[in-house]
Amino acid sequence: MPKRKAAAKDTDCNKNGEPALSKVARMEDITPRTPPTTGKRTNYLSWDEYFMAVAFLSAQRSKDPSSQVGACVVNADKKIVGIGYNGMPNGCSDDELPWARHSEDELDTKYPYVCHAEMNAILNKNSTDIKGCSIYVALFPCNECTKLIIQAGIKEVIFYSDKYHNQANCKASRRLLNMAGVTYRQFRPKANKIVIDFTSIDGPPSKPSWSVWSP
Ligand SMILES: [Zn+2]
Repeated sequence: MPKRKAAAKDTDCNKNGEPALSKVARMEDITPRTPPTTGKRTNYLSWDEYFMAVAFLSAQRSKDPSSQVGACVVNADKKIVGIGYNGMPNGCSDDELPWARHSEDELDTKYPYVCHAEMNAILNKNSTDIKGCSIYVALFPCNECTKLIIQAGIKEVIFYSDKYHNQANCKASRRLLNMAGVTYRQFRPKANKIVIDFTSIDGPPSKPSWSVWSP
């Protein structure tokens, strides 16, 4: 490290009578430092992008032909403690239960049977409790899942889509979340797509293991 120049002379004062810094010292103070070049990647995923992508990847496990929703519960240390997607209850065959959205008989639709992603993510937790956690969800939670979120002690909901914003169940969700002091925010990643290319691991070292772009 270069030594700083000696302190300014007593006679070298500014208009307030304070000793003025030497020209060299002033230059050091105002010149921005060049960040060290470590070769670190710069196009890595942010935490929000990562956890939302995990929720969306989980959704691809869903058998539901009309709606694939995923959820990911994350603790304060940025550790994933629960993942889930919408599906039929354990032991209840998704080959025998209906997946229809409409039918003359409600019992022939999926609605009385299917477990939502948030429910599964909360119940799949791999820690003692999930108090104070955040939940990343593809879709703003319905009122039934909101009850579970609140009762589990989750303190933040991060959602991608709010397409049912004006439906009564979403209005009820917001009412409950507001009353319980659970915050919620919409998150849209900076890119609309993430492509996972399994073959990239065998490629040259400079090739990214995933690529991302905006349409
Ligand atoms: Zn729900």
